Amino acid sequence: MHHFAYRDGALHAEDVPVARIAQAVGTPFYCYSTATLERHYTVFAAGLSGLDARIYYALKANGNLAVVRTLARLGAGADIVSEGELRRARTAGVAADAIVFSGVGKTEAEMAAALDAGIFQFNVESEPELRALDKVARGRGRAAPIAIRVNPEVAAGTHAKITTGTKQNKFGIPWPQARAVYALARDLEGVAAVGIAAHIGSQILDLAPFEETFVKLRDYVLALRADGHDIRRLDVGGGLGVPYGAEAPSAPAEYTGLARRILGNLGCHLMFEPGRLIAGNAGILVARVLYIKESEERRFVIVDAAMNDLIRPALYDAWHGIVPVAEPAARAPLAPADVVGPVCESGDTFTLERPLPPLRTNDLLAFTTAGAYGAVMASTYNSRRLVPEVAVKGDAFAVVRPRPTYEAMLASERLPDWLAAAGATAARGRPDEGSR
Ligand SMILES: *Cc1c(COP(=O)(O)O)cnc(C)c1O
Repeated sequence: MHHFAYRDGALHAEDVPVARIAQAVGTPFYCYSTATLERHYTVFAAGLSGLDARIYYALKANGNLAVVRTLARLGAGADIVSEGELRRARTAGVAADAIVFSGVGKTEAEMAAALDAGIFQFNVESEPELRALDKVARGRGRAAPIAIRVNPEVAAGTHAKITTGTKQNKFGIPWPQARAVYALARDLEGVAAVGIAAHIGSQILDLAPFEETFVKLRDYVLALRADGHDIRRLDVGGGLGVPYGAEAPSAPAEYTGLARRILGNLGCHLMFEPGRLIAGNAGILVARVLYIKESEERRFVIVDAAMNDLIRPALYDAWHGIVPVAEPAARAPLAPADVVGPVCESGDTFTLERPLPPLRTNDLLAFTTAGAYGAVMASTYNSRRLVPEVAVKGDAFAVVRPRPTYEAMLASERLPDWLAAAGATAARGRPDEGSR
């Protein structure tokens, strides 16, 4: 369910014609629907009603301040993986005590920043990390509230690059070892083991791996309590998938129902970390057709968006819907097209042999379900500027991250002294500018 649809032959984001945004902002750009974000959040939250539970939105899916603030206003907490995301969540208005810090490689500086902010929980992924956190927290006279992230050894049946809950993955600690780490934690003054966490992967369509995980987590909670640990929080991670094309993922209500049935009476605060589910189909990437290049074998549609703007097809073989912004005639003939970007990589291909209607230079295309793991993964590869982001609410739209200027892009770099001497025409990086 989302709020991008044709009206009178023109694709709209809520009540705004997408072509009007393109005219104002230029292409390519990301466009987010506030109503869609709010709907996904409220549907998920409704499934948790009556439970001691909270949604900690996974910022890494889409950390734009406008997106995070939209969710924070509805009561969302945040799942973060870096100090940058900590600052982002706080700036967007997420309360510190609604933030959980995940990730296998937290630095001591990041731990210190999160402790000073007073976050809700650290999800610890290894024994050395536990010892580091203990040291940092003790240095501040604190005890960090922690959950150990266990690796439940469940195959999530998703793409290898987004599977996280099997023995071959870097994430979490296998259960027998985790149990020993809890015993160690009890002897460390700088940590207080209050919970247990897991996250088995992303874009999971079926409930079976979740059910297997929830059942294991339930057993782990009981075993840890039997060992004398006061486990009061259970973090099940995120991972529920969204329909990019023909997939039919389990509904959020079925997922929360499953959690309620298996975990609801454990006496734990239940923590959910959906990312993609909230943001995925709340965003589109809009691009313009630059050229149509036809050969005997192929029709190439060369657009002004590229893999640096949306890397999912290149990175995960991901499939995105591609729809013309001007609605094609009902009987428009479909013919296969390869939609590609301008970047100098064969991997800069959004799709191969996709049946698409006739297209011409300057036509606008929308890549659908691009709200999660889209703009956040963008880079400036090929010295292309970061793609701007636009938020829509009803009949209003606003640029929530402008397209940087070329000057700003180049100004972030410096020439070393030995290249900056007279004769070098580059104005940037003169020695006297070095400290600015
Ligand atoms: C990535 C991640 C999430 C969010 O995953 P989605 O598939 O976007 O829901 C949640 N928790 C952790 C620990 C993650 O690494």
